[in-house]
Amino acid sequence: MDNVTIERMNYLIKVLDEASYNYYVLDDPKITDQEYDAYYRELETIEKLHPEWVLDTSPTKKVGGEVIDEFKKVEHTIPMMSLGDVFNEEEIIDFLKRIENSGVHSNYICELKIDGLSVSLLYEKGILVRAATRGNGIIGEDITHNVKTIKSIPLKLKQPLDIEVRGEIYMSKDTLEKLNKERLAKGEKPLQNPRNAAAGSIRQLDSKIAAKRNLDAFLYHLPNPLDYGIKTHHEALEFMKSLGFKTNPNNKIVKNITEVMAYIHEKGNIRNTLPYDIDGVVIKVDNIKDQQTLGYTARTPRWAIAYKFPAEEVLTKLNDIIFTVGRTGKITPNAILDPVQLMGSTISRATLHNEDYVLKKGLMINDTVSIRKAGDVIPEVVEAKLERRTGKEIPFKMITNCPICNTKLIKKEGEADYYCPNINCPARHIESFIHFVSRPAMNIDGLGERLMEDLYNFKFISTIPDIYRLKDKKDSLTKLEGYGEKSVTNLLNAIEVSKSNSLERLLFALGIKNVGKEKAKILAKKYRNIASLSKASYEELTDIPDIGPIIAKNVVNYFANDDNLKIIEELKDLGLNMEYIGEELNLNEDFLDKSFVLTGTLTKLSRDEAKSLIENAGGKTVGSVSKKTYAVIVGDNPGSKYDKAKELNIPIWTEEKFLEKINN
Ligand code: NAD
Repeated sequence: MDNVTIERMNYLIKVLDEASYNYYVLDDPKITDQEYDAYYRELETIEKLHPEWVLDTSPTKKVGGEVIDEFKKVEHTIPMMSLGDVFNEEEIIDFLKRIENSGVHSNYICELKIDGLSVSLLYEKGILVRAATRGNGIIGEDITHNVKTIKSIPLKLKQPLDIEVRGEIYMSKDTLEKLNKERLAKGEKPLQNPRNAAAGSIRQLDSKIAAKRNLDAFLYHLPNPLDYGIKTHHEALEFMKSLGFKTNPNNKIVKNITEVMAYIHEKGNIRNTLPYDIDGVVIKVDNIKDQQTLGYTARTPRWAIAYKFPAEEVLTKLNDIIFTVGRTGKITPNAILDPVQLMGSTISRATLHNEDYVLKKGLMINDTVSIRKAGDVIPEVVEAKLERRTGKEIPFKMITNCPICNTKLIKKEGEADYYCPNINCPARHIESFIHFVSRPAMNIDGLGERLMEDLYNFKFISTIPDIYRLKDKKDSLTKLEGYGEKSVTNLLNAIEVSKSNSLERLLFALGIKNVGKEKAKILAKKYRNIASLSKASYEELTDIPDIGPIIAKNVVNYFANDDNLKIIEELKDLGLNMEYIGEELNLNEDFLDKSFVLTGTLTKLSRDEAKSLIENAGGKTVGSVSKKTYAVIVGDNPGSKYDKAKELNIPIWTEEKFLEKINN
């Protein structure tokens, strides 16, 4: 960390205190939870490096939350704690290790971390007498009048007990959506998230407002379980359920890190289908005695931890909007962003599709924007954060001329996209690059049209040999939109593998006019290497059966052009094979390591062709039938080999059957 100074520490405390006030008192956060958590972690690190600087009033020493004067104050006899948080598997492993190193070998229980606010409910002889917020952990606010409006919280328990239970009050996603629609219709600011919406609703002086907000609650904690003879947390949950409380059905007992991670993955996957928001998973030691052995820090229990899900939406700065040209001349605006981590990859760019899209979102250069991954893959700019504008934003302006060839752009009737109409625009070279890497040509997997357009527009590739120079630009490639470390590594491997393709693929890939796949093969077989082909005369070429005068002329012209020779020379220097290797193997289970005998006259194939098909499929042909022969392929007028095969019970294949197996 660069800035480990007392000034930075004080700055972080100021930012965090201000954020906490907005969040807990006003229920109106001004920064995101991820920003808050990042500042908090930075403060923790500085404090760990310099324990002598740590203030008693530091946010790391207290449970966040303030008490506002309008409410009656309530003292919690057992403090209401926060939870320590972790953000990855390693940190969960550390937590489990810490527990085991303290000599505790309990089961754990995983629960959903409900995104709401915690509440303490006090019952006397089974009757709800008091409900309170967590407040600062010691002093909370009396919210009994509002809690009584929550239908799932029993006013009377199924047993006449004196008991305190704790849990989370939350607002369902549906309710929040409905509420925000109403607020927008009234010209009011929408509530930012269900947590602040729930907190804002429960801290109303008028209980009629809370009643309308349709709040709900899950109960998950019994502060005094041993008083009721309860020895484990999961029994406590069962007990609370039996008293009439709503507990969450997703709670699960787990034994080790593998089961914890499986729970996290499973719940992460169903997160969006739940009717309420969760922001993570809470992992708790199940045995109550063990919990007591582990104890508490100043603000969190040592026997529980909250794993927070990675943010699905993050904020970053829109530094610029640049324009790229596609294979068809289509112009696309692209957001250039301050690099930001989102769900495992670094995002520095996102497509903005077209002018209408940018205008509809009202994006300005220098805006703070939120980014998410659409369909979990392609980054998308969600919106500009208007409240963060500083006056330094620059309005978006659509370009009028092609950024590559400067031709005036056109817009087709009824379409949102602009096009460069110049068919000679260098951007259209992309077409020949796309052909070069295509499956029948150099067969480079993972280098599709979209990526090729990006590579061209971002100047990674301007000539064909540049494809083979991409390996020197691996770091910058991983920063391209949507292409992570793994996909870039796979792509670079596929490019390397393509270097050893047989000559016919290269000839076809080079795009010599009229030289299709078949003609490329004929030329490659005849000339064996590119140097000999480049010297072939028109007459010589036309002498080859299947090579007509047009193709011959195109081949001669191609090799007479210095630009083309330069491309070939560069490709050679980059290590591409320029020789005919022979038919490519096309291994096939029915032939692999098996021996075959041919007899009689085949009608569709010559003997040699049949032999080479067998060899390409991984088999071999032998001259006589024996017990080791896998099958005998029989044409017209077969000889004694046919009789021998019948005698030895060797399978007999007709030519049709043979071809069917080969093509399988
Ligand atoms: P927390 O929300 O990270 O975790 C503790 C809380 O989780 C408990 O108090 C409880 O209410 C809740 N919880 C939900 N399900 C639970 C379960 N099954 N078992 C136990 N507890 C459960 O901690 P916090 O102290 O309430 O809040 C701190 C967090 O609030 C920060 O990490 C940050 O994300 C957010 N915050 C944001 C801002 C902001 O400006 N955006 C400011 C302050 C705090």
